[in-house]
Amino acid sequence: MKITFLGAAEMVTGSCYLCEVDETKLLVDFGMFQGGSAADDLNFNDFTFHPAEIDYLILTHAHIDHSGRIPQLVRRGFQGRIITTAATKDLCSIMLPDSGFIQETETEWINKKRLRAGKSLVEPLYTSEDAHDALKYFEGIEYDEIITIHENVSLRLRNAGHILGSSILEMWVKENDKEIKIVFSGDLGSKNSPLLDHPTMIDEADFVIMESTYGNRLHPNSRNKALQLLEIILETVKKKGNIVIPSFAVERTQEILYELNTLKEAKESKLKDIPVFVDSPLAINATKIFERNKTYFNDDTIKLFESGDNPFDFPNLIFTETSEESKAINFEKRSCIIISASGMCDAGRIKHHLKHNLWRSECSVVFVGYQAKESLGRRIVDGAKSVKLFGEEINVQSSIYSIEGFSGHADQKGLLEWVSGFKKKPSKIFLTHGEDEALTELSRLITKNFGIANEIPKLGQTIELSPCKESSVVKERSFASVASIQTNIDHLKNDFEALLEQLQEAASAGEYVKTDELYYLIDELQSTVKDVKNKVK
Ligand SMILES: [Zn+2]
Ligand SMILES: [Zn+2]
Repeated sequence: MKITFLGAAEMVTGSCYLCEVDETKLLVDFGMFQGGSAADDLNFNDFTFHPAEIDYLILTHAHIDHSGRIPQLVRRGFQGRIITTAATKDLCSIMLPDSGFIQETETEWINKKRLRAGKSLVEPLYTSEDAHDALKYFEGIEYDEIITIHENVSLRLRNAGHILGSSILEMWVKENDKEIKIVFSGDLGSKNSPLLDHPTMIDEADFVIMESTYGNRLHPNSRNKALQLLEIILETVKKKGNIVIPSFAVERTQEILYELNTLKEAKESKLKDIPVFVDSPLAINATKIFERNKTYFNDDTIKLFESGDNPFDFPNLIFTETSEESKAINFEKRSCIIISASGMCDAGRIKHHLKHNLWRSECSVVFVGYQAKESLGRRIVDGAKSVKLFGEEINVQSSIYSIEGFSGHADQKGLLEWVSGFKKKPSKIFLTHGEDEALTELSRLITKNFGIANEIPKLGQTIELSPCKESSVVKERSFASVASIQTNIDHLKNDFEALLEQLQEAASAGEYVKTDELYYLIDELQSTVKDVKNKVK
């Protein structure tokens, strides 16, 4: 079986893997590249395969960086089956047409400029209508059932705990009478999610394709995130400012509503009278889908619903559907909380709210999600003094906060815990869906902690996955030796630290310490390390 990494390779967005099993071709995810003009170029690139030749598309979850180019695939000739969970299918029925609408609006804006500049007009990546067309290929299945989609390919979707309906894909592939099992982690959820179960642990796999978004970071203590939000809200209200929360329409918005519901229901809550606007038609529709798919939640949330408390509804919560209602928010006299999409601020109504609030020092902008490189959100988080919105330069005067605990992604600890769930070591783990530092750090730790061979594939790279033991064993051995060196180095470090302690103790006891020999040994070690490093280069 061959696998080609067509997206999320050495980057976070654009998830897409092409799997070829004999004559059968299937895709896992077909996501949009996000963040800046380089991403746009990748979205518009020609495919390296013919869409009509793709038999199946397995979709891990509804996020646009995993599903966002499906309408383009259909527009260019795909006619196969799209297999995903029922909840993901439900979410895609609103997210993809919304994405098509954004493509159309942005292209219209670009074309106005191009027309004035005497340039030729461009086509949108796809339209809202293309997205509606694509929906007829979707088939929703349940978690945990093994289905055979082809004589040589079976699969099962497991709960990834990342967003409603998100899944880990287990795939069994038969070739030349031999079977291999490949696991695609999809996006793995954080244990902090108040709504969803933890990501499912997988017992075994021959090969794993794994996300690394937070490979180099730990989330702060989860108990603090609601308190952080509360403090920011109260502080801002005291200054008579607004709290603007750029939020992904799906999952994050509902998670924020869940937290606000809890904060508002607390005894003597100071938030009771503060209006909360959900200003995103997509978020409003997504909330309805969440309310319809209660079985996907964890037991506590299901119980909450059963007790009659809808966690996505509370007094003073206002859903603004029309653009008139949206505009009216900015005439609001009282301080208010505005939750709006898109989460990375590159599109949607959030841009208007940033335009009206970023320049006001009494206001706060609270980021509660991942900000891709080059996105507007990332520039603001990174401390931009001013940003351009609708062709206008806006001074950034408001307070800017990031609350990381809201992340829908497992952090470094969570990712490593998930790897530890494999009872039988996979032959190799391919690390994707991460920025450079996250990928290299996670790779280092997987080698160090588990001695599992791993690789960071490049965009467009094709790798042959075969059950043939020789090739995988040889590769494993080379990584295993690195792992054993690592263990030796760890021992050496411990020895040196112990020695240093002894020397310090001796010195403080007034004993005469002879350090010449030690210096000599350290020098020798340093020159050996230098030698090895030069040879490796
Ligand atoms: Zn995701
Ligand atoms: Zn993703």
